[in-house]
Amino acid sequence: MSATKIIDRHLAALRSAARPIVPEDDIFRAFEKVRVELWEVGLLADGKYLDRIDCHRAMLPTFESHFGYVYDERTPWLHKLLGFRAGDIYVPLNAPVRPRTPGSTLLDTVRHEFGHSWAWLDRSFVDGPWFREAFGGSYDDDWGAAPDFDADDHVSPYACNVRPAEDFCETFMTFLRCRRSLHRFDARRGVRRKLRAVARAVATAAKTRVPSVRGPRR
Ligand SMILES: [Zn+2]
Repeated sequence: MSATKIIDRHLAALRSAARPIVPEDDIFRAFEKVRVELWEVGLLADGKYLDRIDCHRAMLPTFESHFGYVYDERTPWLHKLLGFRAGDIYVPLNAPVRPRTPGSTLLDTVRHEFGHSWAWLDRSFVDGPWFREAFGGSYDDDWGAAPDFDADDHVSPYACNVRPAEDFCETFMTFLRCRRSLHRFDARRGVRRKLRAVARAVATAAKTRVPSVRGPRR
């Protein structure tokens, strides 16, 4: 790594350490609001499916720019010891969330992370052919290099990622946020196609998976 890159990384770490702590109440308010959205679209019922996912403020800060994260079955042993639970959503102490900036709010962070939690909870559904058709690869794929950002095809710059999983989560976040006005994306054909695929997958899961999938045991 070059000296400039090392300095840049240290400066970014210092800047992130100076960010304010996200109030726990704000995180829980956002979590409850998104749970209502998930209930409305049918992905959450009492004790069923995404109702099994919890949300926490992480005890650790991020020294980069992570808004949130979800551990999967590869949760590092040290984090398991510290009490991190696979499938749950964690918002770093100093997450770079901003009010009124689409994609950067706490609400959007929780919506995005619920996409990862959904994949953790019901991988066989997310690994269905619909995912590959919509996002060009499977949830675990890695392109090696991010494709060029194309506003017609990527709902946000972060959707244009090395992992189709992030494209899916950004699309899922947008679906939840704009579920009553998806026609606003009609001019962006690639985005519209992905949003429709997610809407269809949500409707199918609500009908066929929510009553039957209990999810991995904790
Ligand atoms: Zn993500």
